Formats: sequence, C-alpha cells, structure tokens
Amino acid sequence: MKSDRRYPVRNPRTGVLDYTFPLPTPAQIRKEAERLRSNQVAWQQKGINERIEVLQTWKHGISKHLDELIEALTLDTGRRYESELEAKLIAQSIDRWCGVATDFFAPSPDKTSAIPFIHIKQDLQPYPLVGVISPWNFPLLLALIDTLPALLAGCSVVIKPSEVTPRFIEPLMRSIQETPALAGVLSFMAGDGKTGAALLKHVDLLCFTGSVATGRKVYAACAKNFIPCFLELGGKDPALVFEGANLDQAAASILWGSTVNCGQSCLSIERVYVQESIAHDFLALLKAKAENVQLAYPTVSDGQIGPVISDKQVSIINAHLQDALEKGASLLTGSAQCEQKSGGWYCRPTVLTGANHTMKVMTEETFGPIIPVMTFQTEAEGLALANGTVFGLSAAVFAKDWETAYHIGQHIEAGAISINECALTSMVHEGEKQSFKMSGLGGTRMGAAAIKRFMKQRAFLIKKEAIAAPWWF
Ligand code: NAD
Repeated sequence: MKSDRRYPVRNPRTGVLDYTFPLPTPAQIRKEAERLRSNQVAWQQKGINERIEVLQTWKHGISKHLDELIEALTLDTGRRYESELEAKLIAQSIDRWCGVATDFFAPSPDKTSAIPFIHIKQDLQPYPLVGVISPWNFPLLLALIDTLPALLAGCSVVIKPSEVTPRFIEPLMRSIQETPALAGVLSFMAGDGKTGAALLKHVDLLCFTGSVATGRKVYAACAKNFIPCFLELGGKDPALVFEGANLDQAAASILWGSTVNCGQSCLSIERVYVQESIAHDFLALLKAKAENVQLAYPTVSDGQIGPVISDKQVSIINAHLQDALEKGASLLTGSAQCEQKSGGWYCRPTVLTGANHTMKVMTEETFGPIIPVMTFQTEAEGLALANGTVFGLSAAVFAKDWETAYHIGQHIEAGAISINECALTSMVHEGEKQSFKMSGLGGTRMGAAAIKRFMKQRAFLIKKEAIAAPWWF
C-alpha cells in the first residue's frame, strides 16, 4: 500500500515549507525491514574483507554525488561549511572504520579453560537488523556514526533520520542504489517520530541519538520488544577555567566549542565556570572574540554562524535567555532573543554574566550559541557546579598545565573530558567513552568496542579427547 501522506519540511534560511517527502505506511516499514533482514545472512557470510570492499566501492560512489549531497545538506541545515565537512568526512569515516574492523576481526587463538581437557572457541554473531534513529543537528554524520560499524559487523541497517532535515536522503540513497551489494542491506527511511516508533518494532537492536525526552520513550519501547538499545542523548557540557590557564587560548576554544554549528551540538560547551580572580580578564577576551564572529547572513557563504535549524529550538533558546535575564543575568554581548532575518532565525554568539543554577540556561539543554558564565572561588566549588546537572556527556578543563587540568578533570562526572581544549570528541575518534547520567546508556560508539556492540558473543566449549569427566555419575 502506497502512502499519500506527505510531510512538509521547513527551510531554515527562509522559513518556507519548500520540500515534502512521503510518510511510509506501517506496511511499507514492515516490508522494508523484512527485505533488509532477508539479505543479512549473505552479507554476514561475505566475511569482513568482502564487506570492506563493498564499503570502499560505496565510498567511491559517494564522491560522484558529493556536490548534490552538500547542496541538500545545506538546504536542510542552512549552513554551508559544516555541510561540506559532514559530506567530505564520510570517506574518512569509512576508511577509519574499515581499519578498525580489520584489526577487530583478526583471528584470535583458542582459549584454554580451567578444566585442562576443555577448549574454548569464541565467535561473534551479528544482530540481523539494526535500526538507527538520528537527529537534525548533524544529519549525515549522526545517521552514519553507528551505521558504519554495524555494517562491518555484518548487520543490515535501516536508518530513520530526523524529519527536520531529510533532503540529504535522496542523493545518498542514489549512491547506495548504485552499489547493489550494499543496497540489499542498507536503507534510509524518511519519516517522523511515528515512523521511528513503528520502525523500532521490526529491528533487533536500536541505536538512538536524540533528546532525553524521546530517548525515554524509545528505551521503554525497546524494553517492551526486548531488544538492546543504545542511547546517545542531550548534554549540558561545562567548561572550567582555573587561575594560571592561558586565557587567550581558553576564550578562543570556549567560543568555538559553544557556538560552532550555531551551538547545535550535543557536546557544545553550554556553561562556563571561571575562577573569580581571572574572570574579568577572561570575560574581556571572550567578549572581544565573540564580537568578531559573524552570522552566515545574508548569504550562506558569509560569516560563521548559520541559522537555528529547527524552529522548535528557537522557542527554547528564547525561553532560556528570557528566564536568565529575568533572574538577574546580564547580556555582555549578543542577542537577548533570536532575530528573524528573511524568514530564518539567527542568534549571535551571546555571553551572559552573573548566571546561576536557578536559571534554565545553566541546567537545561539550550542547543544555541549561548555562553552563560558563572564565577567560583575554590576548586571544590567549581567541580560541584560542573557536576550539578542531570547531564554527563562531556566537559572541558583549562588550567596552568595539562597535568593540573587532568587531575581536576578526574572529578568530573562525564564520559569525555577535554584538557586545555573543548569538544575534542568531535575530532578524536580513538578514545572509547560512554555517556554518564542522563546523557545516554550503553557501550561506546568510538573505537573497536563499538563494533562489538552489534554482535552477540558465543562460546563453543569443546572436549577434543575421549576423557572420562570427573563430574559424571
Ligand atoms: P528528538 O529526540 O526530537 O528526535 C530524534 C529522532 O527521534 C528524530 O529522528 C525523531 O523523528 C525521532 N523520534 C521522535 N519521536 C520518536 C518516537 N516516539 N519513537 C522513535 N523515534 C522518535 O531530537 P532532535 O531534536 O532531533 O535532536 C536534538 C537532540 O539530540 C539534542 O538533545 C541533542 O543533544 C541530542 N544529540 C545527542 C547526541 C549524542 O551523541 N549524545 C548527538 C547529537 C544530538
């Protein structure tokens, strides 16, 4: 049965609903899941070298569609530079994961057991069909981040990207269809939240990236279907700046970490704690640097800060700003509210001083280019503030040297701590890490352990010789 319901999509630079896609029916969702599942066994049987070859062929195929992919992503998100980066990084990600998988699948020797005549052979069985549900802030990158290791593990994968940014699916699907060995086991399904809820009933394992609120629903639905679920959720990453830190570097790094991609990253720096004695100098540097950053307006090639992608996010950013200003924060530089320009919503890098934890902007995810700053006196006070939210995705510490910052960082409840830098997990893929507190659940999505998440471990316990077992009657 074909769906005749089309979903309208807003253009973040113009505010116009200028794109639609058909919403799949429950029957279409089931059929697509069945198709992918039925092709999975042959994919698994190919072995790792052949799977790598197929991904390498796809990588070359994508390069033919790179321009249309960048164009579609730019329309989806309203920003050009990050769209180019997302599209160009696919080739690097494929190469990196192929390298990790080659090592991961290298044969390992049989194990011996505590019982001398029992030998152990281990193997790993992929979950047949992996579902990936992804958000709008890095639509392509976050659709593929779990997909590549799952494919290499030998799973089929179905991806349901965000309905806010679906335009990139068409060019990417063209590249998949031109790689027949991959088209049998990989598919993108444009759809909304209901599509995601329907899809997860047909998969054997789910990777969800999105908000805590949706993550809760998805986790409950996966529990009902008795399938594993990996959750990568929201953050409220703190940066701590201590006496003796290189303030110029700290200000530059924090400005970038808070405002790149218009602050729409799970690992954005969303709150800054600076030691009282250096606050004045730090804020002067931060303000000067923030005022040098421009909006990507009027054209997409201008400036650095694109529009707020989702119009729902605009009301959250505005509510957090209003709440902070009403509760006594001051606007050092930036916007008191998002500004509408030619139909798109924009927000300048905005520094707030005099922030405190009664304000939403210090405890709830804002997902905008807002830098609320608070001062502290002692290390213990700074750490208590940094640990004072329900989130634990990542954090940053700046101090007089890396050893001091590292020592302080050991007391932070988060999965990744950048030392004398911000948001390094966006660039360093080798560090295995998990999300703490409400920022997520499940194993690391980085490194070799990420591949193992998609496989079930099996042990063969082998008696090779005819020996009478001492436990027999
Ligand atoms: P969201 O939770 O609104 O939506 C995420 C995805 O879930 C979308 O594809 C949506 O269609 C789907 N969905 C909605 N309801 C569903 C349901 N009931 N069942 C199944 N799927 C459903 O999140 P968003 O607004 O798209 O993304 C922003 C959020 O994502 C932020 O909180 C951000 O911090 C988080 N995020 C986390 C990471 C990470 O790695 N931890 C990375 C990027 C973004």
